[in-house]
Amino acid sequence: MRGLQGIKTYRDIEVKGKSVFLRLDLNVPIKNGEIQDETRIQGALPTIKELLQREAKLVLASHLGRPKGEGFEEKYSMEPVAHRLSELLDKEVILIEEPNSEAPGSLLKTLRPNQLLLLENLRFDKGETKNSPALAQTWASYTDVYINDAFGACHRAHASISALAETVPERGIGELIEKEVAVLEKLLSASDKPYVAILGGAKVSDKIGVIEHLLDRVDALVIGGGMAYTFLASQGVAIGKSLVEEDKIRVAGDLIKRMEARNKAMILPQDHVIATSIDATDGQTTPGPSIPEAFLGVDIGPRTRTEIGRLLEDAKVVFWNGPMGVFENPAFAAGTFSVAENLAKSSAYSVVGGGDSAAAAEKSGFADKMSHISTGGGASLEYLQGDPLPGLEVLRAKRTSEQNVEPQKL
Ligand code: ADP
Ligand code: MG
Repeated sequence: MRGLQGIKTYRDIEVKGKSVFLRLDLNVPIKNGEIQDETRIQGALPTIKELLQREAKLVLASHLGRPKGEGFEEKYSMEPVAHRLSELLDKEVILIEEPNSEAPGSLLKTLRPNQLLLLENLRFDKGETKNSPALAQTWASYTDVYINDAFGACHRAHASISALAETVPERGIGELIEKEVAVLEKLLSASDKPYVAILGGAKVSDKIGVIEHLLDRVDALVIGGGMAYTFLASQGVAIGKSLVEEDKIRVAGDLIKRMEARNKAMILPQDHVIATSIDATDGQTTPGPSIPEAFLGVDIGPRTRTEIGRLLEDAKVVFWNGPMGVFENPAFAAGTFSVAENLAKSSAYSVVGGGDSAAAAEKSGFADKMSHISTGGGASLEYLQGDPLPGLEVLRAKRTSEQNVEPQKL
């Protein structure tokens, strides 16, 4: 893992009076025009403020949700974000409805110090997700400096992350990416012991890569949530109608064996909350690990919660990804919230990554007691897995024109 080696930060770049295209992850949940959680907006503020203070002319850009890519859709508009940013920064945020036009370029020429531009949702143009060089070219035509601070989008080779970065010679990352990567590097190189990983969520197949990668690093592994049943099935435990990935049962069994061979603790649920559907209004607790035919597991049971709690008391480093149960249903949130509470109590360096996990941590009321909540779900996981993130690699790579330059003789 090379971290941020070879990548410039926005501190290394002269921005005074220059047009700076700042790619952010302002992809916040919005319901009826109201922002539901502004973690990502808050995360973007330090870099924006610093660049404004250094008298850059700012063009902010982000995607929001998954529009069709066929033009404007009201429910994916950046309008509420523009409004909130303008309140938080106490500046006029001008929303550019046609980012793929001359408008930003000419507005930049007369931009006042108390103004900045925000482009409408980049994904209204399908060129964004297609990594279109032509689209990148129109943005580049009014850009002096490109800064990427969209950690949550770095695992996507999209036009504003990849093609644009290739086009603009002066480029680097912002403060949020620096911080996120530093935290993940700390986890990857953690020598503090015990190091505990807690994995849950819906799908084993999503997380196999991470588990493989963590196997040799962690001292203990907790498996909960929907993916636990595939592991239990591999041990011949009856799991009723619980979520299971038949084609992953063998791999799950192998992973258990590999943990055993390393003499490392692996906690699988020893009891469960079960119900006949994930939408039920209440469940019942099983006495042991097996689940009767007509039921499915929807949360870890009280004995399992206590066991995890005990493990976390002594932990020094904890990485948590994936809820322990169907936490969206208040009747089945207790297992997930108990992990959040025990993490909050523990003195361990604790990192929560993943979109649903971050939401669960917020909902539990203990989010501010964690050492770090990552704004990036997929990006954090891919980084921890050891996969290169396209958004970082493009900034690390020498541009073709630079490669051809003869090294200067001193
Ligand atoms: P993250 O976004 O943090 O990476 P995932 O997307 O992998 O997490 O998993 C979150 C989802 O897993 C939640 O929607 C939750 O309801 C679901 N889940 C957790 N436990 C179960 C379970 N026992 N049965 C079905 N779904 C579950
Ligand atoms: Mg998720």
